[in-house]
Amino acid sequence: MPELPEVETTRRGIAPHLAGRHITSVIVRQRRLRWAIPKALERELPGQPVTAVERRAKYLLIRTPAGTAILHLGMSGSLRLLPADTPAGPHDHVDLVLEDGRCLRLTDPRRFGALLWTRRDPARHRLLAGLGPEPLGPEFDGALLHARSRGRRTPVKAFIMDSHVVVGVGNIYANEALFRAGIHPARAAGRIGRTRCDRLAQAIREVLAEAIAQGGTSLRDFVGSDGRPGYFRQTLAVYGRGGQPCPRCGHALREIRIAQRSTVYCPRCQH
Ligand code: ZN
Repeated sequence: MPELPEVETTRRGIAPHLAGRHITSVIVRQRRLRWAIPKALERELPGQPVTAVERRAKYLLIRTPAGTAILHLGMSGSLRLLPADTPAGPHDHVDLVLEDGRCLRLTDPRRFGALLWTRRDPARHRLLAGLGPEPLGPEFDGALLHARSRGRRTPVKAFIMDSHVVVGVGNIYANEALFRAGIHPARAAGRIGRTRCDRLAQAIREVLAEAIAQGGTSLRDFVGSDGRPGYFRQTLAVYGRGGQPCPRCGHALREIRIAQRSTVYCPRCQH
């Protein structure tokens, strides 16, 4: 599943090719994604110049003067820039055709993705309005984690994966950040002191920033390639390594489930 680093890498991959260009037409082959693609998008997007491609949480925002296309890659979605006459495969559901003869093609085998349209400020859209701060933005820090976690008995891992607290911390990155910060994933969020909240916020920023930096090497995959852009996986210290030796102390990593999600930690290094 594309996580925040993949979505940001996608944004960086497509933005230079879209910004400043007009969308001449929209081809919808399959309307039924997670929600139906609105007809208003097909009516109002053609003829519009793309002013910016932004990201909020895992949503891509393709901004134009008339409105904003809100795009989510769901479980299996990907975007590529191709010559507009490239034959479409069975999972190529939408093309946004550009004035330069290319198209931005959305491929999504499982169809949990979404493509919506809003004329208003997208920050006020129902999908975006309730979201917490961006983990790499200026609002997110240890003070925020500390303030929002007081009185919370929720395991800290579930707490940092709650998009009302902070967006974009998926399961892999929650595991990695807690290991890096030396915090036991099942510890009650409200019992973690300020210094450890600072360390945790820093660890979350680091693991996401490192993944985005790693994704930067795959940017060319978004343009004209045959395959789907590769979802990358950075070198992981704990996730998927239950039973193997801790990279820090050598003790066997333990695997448990928290909120139905695989959770791997070192019982010696994480408290
Ligand atoms: Zn250890």
